[in-house]
Amino acid sequence: MDNLFGLTVEALGEKCVALNIPAYRGKQIAEWMYRKGAASFDVMTNLSKALRADMARSFSIVRAKCVERWDSSDGKTSKFLLEFPDGVAVETVLMRQPYGNSVCISTQAGCAMGCAFCASTLHGVTRNLTAREMLDEVLFIDEMLRIEEQKVDTMVLMGSGEPMMNYENVLTFLRLVHAPYCLNMGYRNVSVSTSGIVPGIERLAEEGLPVTLSISLHAPDDELRSTLMPINQKYGVCEVVAAGRAYAEKTKRRVTYEYILIRGVNDREKDAKALAALLRGQLANVNLIPINPVVERNWARPTTEEIQKFCRALERLHVAATVRQEMGADIQAACGQLRNRRLEEGGGDFD
Ligand code: SF4
Repeated sequence: MDNLFGLTVEALGEKCVALNIPAYRGKQIAEWMYRKGAASFDVMTNLSKALRADMARSFSIVRAKCVERWDSSDGKTSKFLLEFPDGVAVETVLMRQPYGNSVCISTQAGCAMGCAFCASTLHGVTRNLTAREMLDEVLFIDEMLRIEEQKVDTMVLMGSGEPMMNYENVLTFLRLVHAPYCLNMGYRNVSVSTSGIVPGIERLAEEGLPVTLSISLHAPDDELRSTLMPINQKYGVCEVVAAGRAYAEKTKRRVTYEYILIRGVNDREKDAKALAALLRGQLANVNLIPINPVVERNWARPTTEEIQKFCRALERLHVAATVRQEMGADIQAACGQLRNRRLEEGGGDFD
């Protein structure tokens, strides 16, 4: 049966017209599904009983199932493994921040980009997520928060997957979430993270959506960055930073450069100087992320003093920098880890 969940008002209107139902009913159905969490036509009480029965004969509302949940011991981070009807599962994370509830969305099941520090890429990419599936992720959490009279305030596309490799679906999703009949979320409350897919950055700059762009840089030169991020062989540091600068100029939005700090690898004074030289004068800030130790690679996390030293060095060189507050380390909040565990236990979507 035709699943209506995830369709725009316009598409819902067309579905209605095909059944000889007036198109304006599409808006009512959208509000029931997206604002009131309706999982069946039965509850749509501003539709006549006959109409509800007609709808139920032709259409369905199919949602993802939450198959696992983990909560951090401080209660601030919750991670959910959501399974779609074809058995593919992705992780979605809720972070209760001082400034509001933030949700981290996966845009692909797995990831093909091969970043050396990332668990999401270990099994490659299974498939792109549809706009419907990404909407399911954020609505799942928003519906949960509604019970506490709260809502999702901000959203980061920073879970599994490279959003720019699933561009069309991501843009459809962002427009849907922004729509007044859906979550009515301001674009300024959305961050899109990329490993540095330059054509995607350029395309996003032309969309006229004031979303925040977040670029995973992680190293200030090509030699080092290529060892951490294979995509650097295609889009090198200078090209990526130039695309970030152009994005900031076009959108007037500050670009965030993500920088994982690995002790002795990219946290040296010369790295801070090279990074500052790249970004100085840009509408940009650096988000420093101390790495969780990766035993297989012998990578260690810098000490608190070393982290602060790196941060101060950037600031001295006139580059704004912050250290990301760590959340949910005790529930493996780094993207991909939970999904991998499930795959390795044989419960996954690779069979
Ligand atoms: S860091 Fe992002 S782009 Fe890189 S492998 Fe992980 S999910 Fe993919």
